[in-house]
Parts: sequence; C-alpha cells; structure tokens
Amino acid sequence: MKLYYDLHIHSALSPCGDNDMTPNNIVNMSIIKGLDVIAVTDHNSCGNVRAIMKAAGENLLVIPGMEVETSEEIHVVCYFKNIEDAEKMWEIVRSHMQRIKNREEIFGEQLYMNEHDEIVGKEENLLVSATAMNIYDVVRYAKECKGVAVPAHIDRSSFSVLSNLGVIPDDLEVAALEITKKNRKKLEIDYKNYRIISSSDAHYLEDISEPEFCMDIMSKTAENVLRYLCKIE
Ligand SMILES: [Zn+2]
Ligand SMILES: [Zn+2]
Repeated sequence: MKLYYDLHIHSALSPCGDNDMTPNNIVNMSIIKGLDVIAVTDHNSCGNVRAIMKAAGENLLVIPGMEVETSEEIHVVCYFKNIEDAEKMWEIVRSHMQRIKNREEIFGEQLYMNEHDEIVGKEENLLVSATAMNIYDVVRYAKECKGVAVPAHIDRSSFSVLSNLGVIPDDLEVAALEITKKNRKKLEIDYKNYRIISSSDAHYLEDISEPEFCMDIMSKTAENVLRYLCKIE
C-alpha cells in the first residue's frame, strides 16, 4: 500500500519549534494535509511523542522518533517501533548531553504537553546542543534500541553529514538518507544505493508536508516503516 509520509516534524518541545506545534495541532494538520504516517523528531528528545501518539489514536500512524545531534554537530533522525524503545534511546541520549540551561528568551520555550495540549512541564536543559556521541555511536545505539538511524538533511550547509564530514562514510551502517525536497531530484542519483526520504523538518504547522512523498509498504505499521527505511523488501 502507498502511504504518504512526513517523518521529520518538531513539536513545541524543540526550542525552535513553534508553541502551536501541540500534539492535537500536529495530528490534525497532518490528517488535513492527507498524510498517513508521521514521525515527531524533536532535538535530542522524544518527550512529547507519547502525547502525540495518544492524540492520534487510530487515525494516523505516529512513528516515535528524535533528531539526535552528534559530537560532530551532524543531525541524525532516529526512528523506533514503539515508544518504549524510543525512550530507551532518549535515556542514552540524555546521559551523553551537556547540561546547558535553556535561555528561553534566546532559544525559545521547551514545552512538554499532554494529549489534551495542556502544558505539563518545561525542559530546563537546552535540547539543541551536540551530544558526546559521534555519528557511529548514534547509529549503533539506535540499532541497540531496535531502531533505525537516518542522517538528516544531508544536503544542508550545516548540521549535516556532508557539510561536516564531506562524504557518507562507506562503513557507516545506514540504509536511508534524508535529502531536502528542493535538492532531491538533483542528488538522488548520486545516492541511488540508499533509500532516499524527504520530509518537511517542520517547526511551524503550515510547513508540515503536503502528500508528496510516499512509501510502498505491506501494511500501515511502524515495523513496516522501519523495514522500508532499512531497505528490507
Ligand atoms: Zn536538523
Ligand atoms: Zn529537524
């Protein structure tokens, strides 16, 4: 079956994410746009994913995820089959983070919300910072948590594997790469051995993807989405 996806969306937990990126707003906008599958990938955290999964219920498949920043300042989106696996990864990420207090007036608020869009807390530590894990560590830890790591927006001039390492290392065990929509056609031929995905990296509701990119999978489950990202046919 063909499923339209957007696998890179930030909630109000990301300091750069708009405070309107609440669980219900994200879910409803994704449904209005005609998407079948989304992933919420906040910086170095999956703290709002449970609420978003609850808000979605059976109406939309939500893949638990997070966007980890490596020690080389490369963004890697990680996806998991279930929230428990994602939270194991979150523990690992937290244990590799520097403790820098968030300055809301500069970076923005980091809001934890419940499935009714009520604010239930604030993250005090700044989430947008490099962890002490290199890109190989992130790929390995994601795998240990039964997840999949995908280098994010590889074509961007900052926070990407190409801008910071120059190449996708041959020994980096990833099967998929994220390329931004505008460069996808130009670059996908160069990376034809990888599964290429394109998502919005939305920080504002209106930026959530139109039904433009789809995956062909057996049935609408998180397991099958992960298999697709691992290039398992
Ligand atoms: Zn990023
Ligand atoms: Zn992002």
